[in-house]
Amino acid sequence: MSRNLTKSRFKVGYECPSKLFYLDNKKFGNLNAENSFLEALAEGGFQVGELAKVYHPGGIEITSANKDQAVTETAELLKRDKVTIFEATIRHENLFIKADVLVKSGSNIQLIEVKAKSFDPTERNPFFTKASVKKNKPQLNSQWEPYIMDVAFQAFVIQQAFPDFEVEPFLMLADKTSIATVDGINQRFFLDSSVGGRVSVITAPGTTAASLGAKLLVKVSVSKEVEVAWASQFRGGHSFSEFVSYLSSLLETNTLAEPVVSGGCKSCEFRIGADLKSSGLLSGFENCWSKARGIKAADFSRPMVFDIWNFRRSELLLAQEKVFIDQVERDDIDPREGADGLSASERQWLQVEKIIAKESTPYFDSEGMAEEMERWRFPLHFIDFETTMVAIPFHAGCRPYEQIAFQFSHHCVNENGTVEHAGEYLNREKGKYPNFDFVRNLKRELEDDNGTIFRFAAHENTVLCQIRQQLLSTDDVSDSRELVAFIESITASTDSAESEWLGPRNMIDMCELVKLFYYHPPNQWFELD
Ligand code: SF4
Repeated sequence: MSRNLTKSRFKVGYECPSKLFYLDNKKFGNLNAENSFLEALAEGGFQVGELAKVYHPGGIEITSANKDQAVTETAELLKRDKVTIFEATIRHENLFIKADVLVKSGSNIQLIEVKAKSFDPTERNPFFTKASVKKNKPQLNSQWEPYIMDVAFQAFVIQQAFPDFEVEPFLMLADKTSIATVDGINQRFFLDSSVGGRVSVITAPGTTAASLGAKLLVKVSVSKEVEVAWASQFRGGHSFSEFVSYLSSLLETNTLAEPVVSGGCKSCEFRIGADLKSSGLLSGFENCWSKARGIKAADFSRPMVFDIWNFRRSELLLAQEKVFIDQVERDDIDPREGADGLSASERQWLQVEKIIAKESTPYFDSEGMAEEMERWRFPLHFIDFETTMVAIPFHAGCRPYEQIAFQFSHHCVNENGTVEHAGEYLNREKGKYPNFDFVRNLKRELEDDNGTIFRFAAHENTVLCQIRQQLLSTDDVSDSRELVAFIESITASTDSAESEWLGPRNMIDMCELVKLFYYHPPNQWFELD
C-alpha cells in the first residue's frame, strides 16, 4: 500500500531511510509504537498545542478526519486574504502535512510549528554549532536539528503546493525566561481521555490570551535555519528536494533502503528484544545487520560492541570488523586504573572479560566498599524525591519547566540493623506550590542527627539546588535563610549555581558507589548460551 510522506515519517526517514520500510509493517516490532504518544503526553505537548491556539484568537481548526476533505477545506480557507488556520492540511503529490498554525496575510504565510521544548530567547544563535558560527558557515546543532528539519519539510511542502506564496517558518517554544503571572494556568488545559481512550485537551471556558497573563510561549523565526537545512547534503549526496523525493519513493514502492549500519543502530526502535520476538514479531535491526554485515541469526544473541557501557569507540571497532563484544581485545579498551574503585575503562574491560569467559556472576569489590562504609555514620538516611517539570506552570511566579517537588520518602537503617520507613512528604493540596514545604519537611526529617544521607544519581541534589535558587529569588519566605543553609549542608553545588559549595553532610550517591564497586552482567546475555 502506498503511504504518504508525512512530517512524522519524514522525521523517521531522516534518522534512517531504512526505518521507513519497517515503520508501518505489522510484521516488525517497534519499541516506539507507544513512545511518541507517551512522550508528547509527558512533555505537555498536547497542552502546549492548545495554549498556542489561545495565543492565536480567531483561528479556524481543520477537524475533518477525511484527508481529502481536510485538504479541500484548507485550500478554501487559504483563498481568504487573511486567515489563521490550525491543523492546516496540505498535500503535494505524495507529501502530506498537518501544520500546527498557519497565519496567512496576502501572499505571505507564516508557518508556526509548536513544540513543548524550552527555549531561552536571550541566547545568540541557539540553533547552530558554535564552531560553525565562528567560521561563518552555520551548521545546525544536534539538539535542534530534528526540529528545524521538521519545519523545513513542512515549509517545503507548502512551497510546492502553493508556489505563489512566500512561506516564513517559525517555531513556537516554551519561553524559559518568562514568569507566569497567573495561578493555575496548567489546570486550564485539562487532558481528557474519556472518549474512546483518545487524549484530547479541554480548555477551560473563558480562557483567553489576556486571562493567562504573561506570555509563556515565544515565536522564533527560523528562516535562516530552514535555508541551512534546505542547502544541506543528505545521504547519497542528495539535495533536500532529492532526499524528500527519495523518501517518498521508498514509501510509494514499499522498498527497504540499503541499510547503512553503524553504532547509531544501538538505539534503533526496531532492535526488539526476545520478548517481542517470541511473540512472533520480526526484528528490523537483525534484518538490516544480516543484509549489511552478513550476520547469521544465531549470532544476534552475542552482545555487540556498542553494548559496552559508555563506550565511545564502537564506530572504530566496527570499521575493523569487530562487531561483537567477544571480539574485543584489551588494547581496544586500554583500561586505566581507577583511584577509588573501578575506572570507567576498567568497568568496560570487566564487562568484556565476563562475556569472553561466559561468566555471569557479579563482580563486587568488598574491600573497597568496606573502606567506603567506614566513613558512614548511623542512622543511615535514604531519601527519594518525586518531582515534575511541566511546560505550562501550575503557579504564578514559576517559569515553564520549573522544578516542582511534591513528594519524598525517607527510610532509615539503624546501627542495630533495623530498617524503618521514617517519614514522607506528599502534597495533597490542589493548586498549592509545594517546594518550600517540601524542604521544610525534609529538614525536619534529617536535622535530629548527623547520620549519612543517601540518594541514587544526581536528581535529589539537582532538585535541592533548584529549590535553593527559588528561595534566593523570593522575599516572601520567612525561614528562607535556614532552608538555604540546610540545603547547602547536604548538597554540592551544581554547574549552574552562582557560587560553589560542598556541604559537610553532602549526600552520598549510591549510583556512583555501584559504578565503583559493583558490576552485574545482564542476564539475557547468558540465557541464550
Ligand atoms: S538497524 Fe540501523 S540501519 Fe536498520 S533501520 Fe535501524 S538504524 Fe537504520
